[in-house]
Amino acid sequence: MIPGFFQGTEMPTEGWWGTLWPDPARVLTSLGLKPHDNPETIAGGDVDVALGDIAKLKNLFECQRCGRNVKAKNVVPGQNKISCKCGKKEVEWK
Ligand SMILES: [Zn+2]
Repeated sequence: MIPGFFQGTEMPTEGWWGTLWPDPARVLTSLGLKPHDNPETIAGGDVDVALGDIAKLKNLFECQRCGRNVKAKNVVPGQNKISCKCGKKEVEWK
């Protein structure tokens, strides 16, 4: 063990947090937050945007023909791509 460092397998302890973040109140205050400040309330429009983003993400990987998702195990031969089971939906892959 290196003096001044925690072992990688050690669970966080009270002292660990104090070392990592010695003065949380000062950080929050410097960001302009005061005690009992309430961050922005989530509105219905925010939920709609989030659901739209999730749908876009889902569409990136879901095949309209076979209804299955693109999987890393379905590598397109000779290309840096992976596909769904039927091969219609392809995504660039390293
Ligand atoms: Zn497919």
